[in-house]
Amino acid sequence: MLSRLKSTRRQFLGAMTATCATAPWLGEAQIKAAPTDSIPLIDCHLHINHFDRTVEDTIRHMDATGTSKAFVLPLETGEGGVLLRSETVLHAFHAHKDRVIPFCQTDIRRADVLQRIRAYHLLGCRGIGEQKEHLPLDDRRVERIIALCDELDWPITIHFQDGEKGFNQGLAQHLERYLKKYKKVRIIGHAQTWWAHISADVPDPAKSLYPKGPVKSGGVIDKLMTDYPNLYGDMSAGSGYNALSRDEEFTMGFIERHPRQLLFGSDCPCYDGQGKNFRGMCYSKQLQSFLKRIVKDPGTLRNILHDNALRAVGEKVPA
Ligand SMILES: [Zn+2]
Ligand SMILES: [Zn+2]
Repeated sequence: MLSRLKSTRRQFLGAMTATCATAPWLGEAQIKAAPTDSIPLIDCHLHINHFDRTVEDTIRHMDATGTSKAFVLPLETGEGGVLLRSETVLHAFHAHKDRVIPFCQTDIRRADVLQRIRAYHLLGCRGIGEQKEHLPLDDRRVERIIALCDELDWPITIHFQDGEKGFNQGLAQHLERYLKKYKKVRIIGHAQTWWAHISADVPDPAKSLYPKGPVKSGGVIDKLMTDYPNLYGDMSAGSGYNALSRDEEFTMGFIERHPRQLLFGSDCPCYDGQGKNFRGMCYSKQLQSFLKRIVKDPGTLRNILHDNALRAVGEKVPA
């Protein structure tokens, strides 16, 4: 009896730390009524060394947030404040092959960038990202790697941030040209300017990168995602959560219009899935509970939490 109690307690704690999703005191019928809790979770945006987190800490974060796999994204130039080498991501992949989906990134101003990316392709990487260097979006060096992703049938995760100290500036002016020209690459939009364009009215980036309040329909990303099925949205970080939570009614329609193109992601820097080192905030847990509350269709929720990530890396997913 004691051992049964012990194992029940272990299962209870395991369930709590794994997902915090299915309350173990619910009856069988109620658990069946909540099928979303059984959807495996892929995080499309995770780094390793936020606040000096190690690979093992990062895997623990995945365990604590119920994350089965993650796109682990290097940032080789460190221009956004975090420096993570593609080699480190490949090491993590070799240690945790069933959990890490490795991406690569390297300084695109270097003459040998294409050879380096091709080498990472041979070593098992599945895409480029996070692309975050101080270059405007229409720079020919940015185009060069988008073209390479198109050739390799790869995704690329791009940090869009307009303004003087931004990255890949000029989404509204330049992104469509790439989408018209390159049909195979999956462009995954991320960060402040990407999400500000959920709305048709976008403030000057010098004034606000995190606009709040009701969304005006007809935003650039809404239109582009309608016209180009190879354009995806990465819901991670404060920028994703701010945009999706600023006008829930609009968000429900936005998700209905693009059920195959939105990816769950966290970009979470916390250690424990509780945000102990990050103002009590875990981006993964926050977005999971938000989506489980507002996405009513189980098929769409499964797409966002899991299937769209597989589609983005080029795996066949049954419809
Ligand atoms: Zn990031
Ligand atoms: Zn977290």
